[in-house]
Amino acid sequence: ALPICLFCKIAAGQIPANKLFEDEQILAFYDIDPQAPVHFLVIPKKHIPSAACLTEQEGALLAHIYAVIARLCRELGCENGYRVVTNVGADGGQSVPHLHFHVLAKRSLAWPPG
Ligand code: 5GP
Ligand code: ZN
Repeated sequence: ALPICLFCKIAAGQIPANKLFEDEQILAFYDIDPQAPVHFLVIPKKHIPSAACLTEQEGALLAHIYAVIARLCRELGCENGYRVVTNVGADGGQSVPHLHFHVLAKRSLAWPPG
């Protein structure tokens, strides 16, 4: 069946993306509207609507995502730090209903967020 979800289409290669890393489970690609000098997204290839849908079953998947983020940030020279964000639902500011982790780096990020 053809995916209807935007990030499922990117994961399937039906919509192009500027990819940094890909394996059987996950894909990392640059955000189309970057909010920092480094801004990429990491998604599971499997469709999960948001972090609100995660269970203990996804423990290894999440560990893998964070390990790949750490490696990519090291390779990109983000030694001053970075931020990982996953927005959930309307109040969280989620606009694409497929779990994704924003990785922002190479500028000083404000806290608390807006
Ligand atoms: P959210 O608002 O759901 O937390 O994050 C969705 C992110 O996906 C946004 O930062 C937005 O710029 C990015 N985005 C939306 N459509 C596309 C696309 O087609 N390609 C890429 N690379 N990023 C996208
Ligand atoms: Zn999806």
